[in-house]
Amino acid sequence: MRKLCWRISSSAASDPAEQQSMSESRRKLSYLVGTDYTIGTPTQERTGLGKIVTIIGFTEDNRRVIVADKSDPTRTAEVKFSNIGYLVATDGTFVDMITGKPPEAQPTRKAVLHVLHHSVPAPSEPLATARRCMRKPIPEIFEAARLLDAAVTAHLLGRFDLADELIRAADMSAIRDWSESLWGPRSPYVQYRDLPHPLPHLPTEQRASLRNPTPDQKSALHSRDGHHCRFCGIPVIPAEIRKRIRERYPHALRWGRTNPEQHFAFQAMCAQYDHIVPWSRGGKTEVDNMVVTCWPCNCGRMEYSLEEVGLLDPRTRAPIRSTWDGLRRFH
Ligand SMILES: [Zn+2]
Repeated sequence: MRKLCWRISSSAASDPAEQQSMSESRRKLSYLVGTDYTIGTPTQERTGLGKIVTIIGFTEDNRRVIVADKSDPTRTAEVKFSNIGYLVATDGTFVDMITGKPPEAQPTRKAVLHVLHHSVPAPSEPLATARRCMRKPIPEIFEAARLLDAAVTAHLLGRFDLADELIRAADMSAIRDWSESLWGPRSPYVQYRDLPHPLPHLPTEQRASLRNPTPDQKSALHSRDGHHCRFCGIPVIPAEIRKRIRERYPHALRWGRTNPEQHFAFQAMCAQYDHIVPWSRGGKTEVDNMVVTCWPCNCGRMEYSLEEVGLLDPRTRAPIRSTWDGLRRFH
């Protein structure tokens, strides 16, 4: 089934025969968000990324792919299609992007053949080193995004059984484990520290009257930030899109009242609108004080300031630009 997923193009026909006959310019449409590729040494040196990268989107003119380092997904770069090497299959072998078969000459660079589902190391960054996010995303999240993207494509092609199957396949317990590791006061990844002059915790009557952003503010935030978490970079899905998909696939997209009853990928990727200066500490519900984030990054920080948990201000770096659309094309 996994092969089917990555061979479905997000905007071209799903018929493999038709894909094979595509011109070079259309072939790039069969690169899917969430798939892993190799890049050559010159590109590694130019971008500072490692050999294996994950596609997280495309530039708006569709001429370059946006990739994230496989071992450090917070590091990203734009790469020409011609600089992307072999697709790295989930079993660690190389397959041709179009045919799905091993290329005639297998590459000998053994370094590429490392285990893709590596475990995430325990937090070790000292607080003195500010970090981009509290815990790096795991590969399964990007794999789930790829499956959900393919599910929406299958749905739009009228292949409803396949869409249902793909939504279920994205419901991975590894993603639940990642999310839960960031929630709650005992998370080892949050690493709170006392500051000499902390922002006060304001009583309710002194906080800004509006806590949640308006629909206009949400759309302004997505216009600026796209559909990726500004901290950890994972793709996010707005709640209204999840509801729309759930209406059509109520069993595959389970969404009960408690955390374990909710589809783990939709849960982690649920778009949040996070106050940089926390609302309870005097932050205003204004676009300049807010960023789009994933659920674990938002909930994990709780009411701490960035400085208290040693996070870099995500507004000091550019948002990820990609064609991941938050599944908004679903209808
Ligand atoms: Zn995040």
